[in-house]
Amino acid sequence: MSKKHLRPAIQAIPDGRPFIPADHIERVQGRPLSIIVGANENRFGFSPKVSDAIAHSTHRSWRYPDGELHDLRAALGTHLGVGMEHITVGGGIDGILCDLVRLTLDPTDTVVTSLGAYPTFNYHVVTTGAQVITVPYKDDHEDLEALAAAAQKHHPKLLYLANPDNPMGTWHSAEAISAFAASLPEETLFILDEAYIECVPEGTAPLLVPTDENCLRLRTFSKIYGLAGLRVGYGIGPVGLISAFDKVRNHFGVADIAQRAALAALGDQHFVETTAQKIAHARTTITRLTLEMGGHAIPSATNFMAVDFNIGLEGANALLARLTARDVFIRKPIVPVLGRTLRMSVAPDPELEQLFEIIKDELPKIRA
Ligand code: PLP
Repeated sequence: MSKKHLRPAIQAIPDGRPFIPADHIERVQGRPLSIIVGANENRFGFSPKVSDAIAHSTHRSWRYPDGELHDLRAALGTHLGVGMEHITVGGGIDGILCDLVRLTLDPTDTVVTSLGAYPTFNYHVVTTGAQVITVPYKDDHEDLEALAAAAQKHHPKLLYLANPDNPMGTWHSAEAISAFAASLPEETLFILDEAYIECVPEGTAPLLVPTDENCLRLRTFSKIYGLAGLRVGYGIGPVGLISAFDKVRNHFGVADIAQRAALAALGDQHFVETTAQKIAHARTTITRLTLEMGGHAIPSATNFMAVDFNIGLEGANALLARLTARDVFIRKPIVPVLGRTLRMSVAPDPELEQLFEIIKDELPKIRA
């Protein structure tokens, strides 16, 4: 295929698809997966109120959705205690990141992120031609001190940090995040991705200050609300930045059914609370089962855990391949130090027990 029409920044991106969906594995292996713990989805489902909302909205599908996402933004505003003018809604956090780089980055710009952190930020940034500076993790945590030093050195346009982090599930306190944000250069926009914020211990989320000109917070309905398949995420930030999203976003990109499902999900905070408890319980199950196999699960404030079976990077790669061949959808960090672990979503106990039975069967072959 001729690439002559592509922008130089796009030509420079290696060929291939960076994100392989679970469906692809099913197509290649020719059978359904039996255990799905690879994408940090909510294995405890979603609120029954969502099913009702969807059932009651299908008849509207001939109409374009509300491009102002009014009701959802208003409800989010009430829920968060901020004005709806501080909220933009898009096709998941991933979709908002896509719009964000179009809004902010020129090819001469620089961004800072952690090496091996959630990859979709970089995926969008490279399409602009901007330079990505990465900072290694320290002790399986994003290294706030080194990130701050990189920001002072490079004066990036954007600094991206997920708290808690993906792929390790580790987190920093609200106090540490606020001090970090305050240390950033004035020209840097701090992108704080809080995809898992509903699972975290008290004292992890800094106070929401939507008037802060230098911060954009990102949240999603994909995780605790269990709506990953519907693609709804939102950003909270200063009015000037939030209203600028209207210049680039796909105005009718969040389907009516998705908007109404998200609204219903937001309205069922009892579901959120009970799911947070189930997630915390499942983390203790993974921790115990991993210990029984001579490994350890890294403490996590998310709906997934990075587990270390003490088999190193190559061993972990081999285990991933073996589990996939046995119809388990599971993923792992890519960069070497983090890549010694496998990353698994939490799930109901019977499924976790089934998963660890397979791991128990495969681990000795790798250790041998
Ligand atoms: N941000 C982080 C840190 C994530 O781990 C994920 C999903 O795994 C996302 C964003 C994706 O969110 P969304 O489904 O809203 O695009």
